[in-house]
Amino acid sequence: MTNAFDSDTLAFYQGNAADYAAWSKHRHVRLDQFLGRLPPGASILELGCGAGADSAHMIKQGFDVRPTDGSPQMAAQAAQRLGRDVETLLFHQLDADALYDGVWANACLLHVPRNELGGVLARIWRALKPGGWFYASYKGGEAEGRDKLARYYNYPTEDWLRERYREAGAWSSLAVEANEDVGYDNKPAVILHVTAQKVT
Ligand code: SAM
Repeated sequence: MTNAFDSDTLAFYQGNAADYAAWSKHRHVRLDQFLGRLPPGASILELGCGAGADSAHMIKQGFDVRPTDGSPQMAAQAAQRLGRDVETLLFHQLDADALYDGVWANACLLHVPRNELGGVLARIWRALKPGGWFYASYKGGEAEGRDKLARYYNYPTEDWLRERYREAGAWSSLAVEANEDVGYDNKPAVILHVTAQKVT
């Protein structure tokens, strides 16, 4: 795979944005833990924001949020929910230097082709301020593949992920937790939750 993003995956979100938005329900437990690490009013970049539920939660709590998604249709769903513009931004287009206290990327970097993930993580590392926090979640597995809806997943092991993070930049902490959940494809999956802090 040589593309910086998977076009079939983005086509899926483009074509199913409203259904996905209606399906997605957010419990915010991990998001609240993440926000608890940040100062009040902190600047947060959300990548792959989907229908915008997490950004809505962060904005409500007074954080300075930049919601983004790579699919214009999903960004439009989020804009409708948030009542503000939501930028269309593909992960590999992120070009920021020490701007954010936090980067939140729930269930979206799991769609980054394996050979591109290191480059995207390096961009996120650069976008964070020293000491900034970064959360992302992945579906665990042994090798890349597609679900029955044709969405691409990188399906990493914890060790493989840790290597990619280490190559991307220096972190003062890197924690991985696993649990089980059922996705839009209705299939149970192991979710790897990765929380990292950039060195100060
Ligand atoms: N974060 C949201 C949530 O938790 O509900 C959405 C998760 S959804 C599984 C994955 C999102 O990633 C979709 O909104 C999709 O459009 C976006 N996405 C997929 N590939 C992307 C890419 N290369 N760049 C930016 N966004 C992308």
